[in-house]
Amino acid sequence: MAKEKTKTETKEFQAEVKKLLDIVIHSLYTERDIFVRELVSNAADALEKFRHQSLSEEEVFDSHVPLEITIDVDEKNHTLTIIDTGIGMTREELEANLGTIAHSGSNTFLAELAEAAKKDISLIGQFGVGFYSAFMGGKKVRVLSRSYLPDAEGCEWSSDGSGSYTLSPEKGLRRGTKIIVELKDDAREFADEEKIRQIIKQYSNFVPFPIKVKGETVNTVQALWTRNKNEIKEEEYVEFYKFIGNAFDDPRFRLHFTADAPLAINALLFVPQENIERLGFGRMKSGVNLYCQKVLIEQHSENILPEWLRFLKGVVDSEDLPLNISRQALQDSALVAKLKQVLTKRFLKFLVEQAKEDAEKYNEFFADFGIYLKEGATMDYAYRDEIAKLLRFESSKTEAGKLVSLADYVERMAEGQKEIYYINGPSRSAAESGPYVEAFKKRDIEIIYTLEPIDDFVMNHLGEFDGNKLVSADRADLDLSTIKSTGDSEQKESESSLEPEVAESLRGWVKEVLGDRVKEVITSKRLVDSPAIIVNPDGYMTSTMERVMQAARVEKGEAPQELGNKNLEINTDHKLIKQLSLLRGTDEDFARNVIEQVFDNALIQAGLMVDPRKMVQRSYTILEKATKI
Ligand code: ADP
Ligand code: MG
Repeated sequence: MAKEKTKTETKEFQAEVKKLLDIVIHSLYTERDIFVRELVSNAADALEKFRHQSLSEEEVFDSHVPLEITIDVDEKNHTLTIIDTGIGMTREELEANLGTIAHSGSNTFLAELAEAAKKDISLIGQFGVGFYSAFMGGKKVRVLSRSYLPDAEGCEWSSDGSGSYTLSPEKGLRRGTKIIVELKDDAREFADEEKIRQIIKQYSNFVPFPIKVKGETVNTVQALWTRNKNEIKEEEYVEFYKFIGNAFDDPRFRLHFTADAPLAINALLFVPQENIERLGFGRMKSGVNLYCQKVLIEQHSENILPEWLRFLKGVVDSEDLPLNISRQALQDSALVAKLKQVLTKRFLKFLVEQAKEDAEKYNEFFADFGIYLKEGATMDYAYRDEIAKLLRFESSKTEAGKLVSLADYVERMAEGQKEIYYINGPSRSAAESGPYVEAFKKRDIEIIYTLEPIDDFVMNHLGEFDGNKLVSADRADLDLSTIKSTGDSEQKESESSLEPEVAESLRGWVKEVLGDRVKEVITSKRLVDSPAIIVNPDGYMTSTMERVMQAARVEKGEAPQELGNKNLEINTDHKLIKQLSLLRGTDEDFARNVIEQVFDNALIQAGLMVDPRKMVQRSYTILEKATKI
């Protein structure tokens, strides 16, 4: 035995390793850079392990040697060398670690990898192929290692990746591992110093040990998120944000949190100052990177946060994830799903806290980024309740530009009020002056103005808040009569209301004139100053939702749908309607023109007018008549 160790041995790779090497070597790579990342991350692991061991071990070899990674490039001889002063490997460990795959379920892994390589070779980069990826760039790889154990002996492992490797004793090694990659002819760029610096900056910048190229530390930024919050300076956070977010602004909010249960999480999330999408830069990619023990697993990860939180920048580090988890496995992993859920909940809770702490700052955030929360409310059922707490709207009880929360609204609801009312409008002044708000003003009931088209979809998805139904004021079955209001709720006794039979006859006639364009014509109980209003008998659809969906149909080249499903309410206390009732008897043609115009005006106020040409023509006819002396 002892004798054997003094000479060179040749060993066969395990069958699985051969398969893996076959895939790695005989592929063309677009993502070759990753082999450097893999070797650096192994070096970092080895340093972490050493650091850990040296805490408990009484005696370690080369105890004075600093913990660091050194990268040498030799452009003449086309080699890339990665040296760490970590835990090192004994001859036995070299054999076990670099001759077999320790992977549990390595067969599934290999099958997946082979499948990916067949489909799209660039996919291979997504797999943590670990040490063996060295053969992506190397025609020959030599590993010289000396374990930290005081009595160990140095050993060299060497292979060209084709089926076997050699082990031979090596004297005079320092603690740790030196990996010499003799580069393939078409991979000589990896002996370029600049190239290496760039790769390190991109993938390994937060490795918590210095990575030196030509004596100079390349990784400037530390794994900030793993440090104690109290010890991190504000500037450091900002610098880190700028680095990972590729940003020039200062972050608006920052959430740095750690958790041990149900998962070990270390997360540092930032909300930027600018909403890039709003500036017209197109849809953002996720800005959060996934790390496992400070090693980058996935940049711009789409798996750890929902899409509607894509404006966040930062890192999430979870020790519970396997470092070599594949992209596919990330998508499918229950662990990752759990991680996503915990992070999302935590971030939403953070926003609730921020809103409490500094409402003004929060409202500014909401003005710029609220659209993402609304997207979340419509897409992610699971976080509905949390998001609802974060929404802000203008209302009839606020000054223009000031916002209320649904909780604010509920707190000051009138006696007997069980619903939260809202109405959509293109602007506050449009909403305020429209016919829908009249009944609320009269009774002094607060009404929310939803000023973005998506708002009605949001309200619709939420359905309720705190047990109170969210109801659009353009609903046909709106009933405010049970609410004890402080306003002038007495029905104004109009001097000369239409007789019930006359009103009924007028109603029937209006329906006849408008035909299929309305579902029903109804004598209104809600109107005060307007002659007529369009309302929705289909309880859940609002006019704004209808308009948005119409626009989508038109965009797709489909014909807009006939409306027909709305009710028209007429105000039989209104002078115009009363006069119309008389006009019917004297000049029915003109009366028809007038009610058509009233209907179109109501459609405009509901935001439902698609083509105004006919309406404009008709209004000229009416004006002509009105100006006739
Ligand atoms: P993983 O890092 O996922 O374990 P790798 O294929 O990258 O898989 O590495 C296999 C094993 O080889 C590691 O688990 C480690 O034990 C050993 N190893 C690789 N590189 C080094 C190194 N630089 N120093 C010490 N051990 C190493
Ligand atoms: Mg590894």
